[in-house]
Amino acid sequence: MTAEEIARSLHGKKAGKRWSCRCPGPLHKQGDRKRSLSVWESEDGWIVLKCFAGCTRDDILAAMGLKVRDLAVNSSWKSSPKWNQRQADRKRLEKLERRFGLAMFAGAIIPEERRYWLAAERNIRVEIRELRDRMFPEEALQRSREAKLRRAVARWGWDGLMARWCRTERGKAALHVCDRRLP
Ligand SMILES: [Zn+2]
Repeated sequence: MTAEEIARSLHGKKAGKRWSCRCPGPLHKQGDRKRSLSVWESEDGWIVLKCFAGCTRDDILAAMGLKVRDLAVNSSWKSSPKWNQRQADRKRLEKLERRFGLAMFAGAIIPEERRYWLAAERNIRVEIRELRDRMFPEEALQRSREAKLRRAVARWGWDGLMARWCRTERGKAALHVCDRRLP
């Protein structure tokens, strides 16, 4: 494998000998627009992955369906099903995001077709969400936690919930995390 192969699959842009890429790691819930991941080939023949947001190499490899040994430059490697799936998903997500942008644009400039484009936007949004859930399972997990919390708030109210949860340290920690995420 080469640094370029990895970089190309992650929207890499070349700067000198390094590529700056969108990191597939778990710390970028909304995608990595900042290109936090630097990829290059070291002098001793290994591909180096460095995420400036702090994802570990193992996280990044797991997200890409690669093994440490695939990072040897020019190692013969067989693409895993996960790698292939990921490439396909990534292309599909790009296409859907483009279509979403177009639908929004069309709705804005063709007022008489606004209802049509709003419906199209809604459908595309659902598709994007399903795809993202598969690509980034941690996002889906976070959303289901938030939904659970919202239901609990609706049932017991904040004060009731606090009283229930604050009996345990774990409950306190959970509240602390979720508190700021709720609208
Ligand atoms: Zn990262």
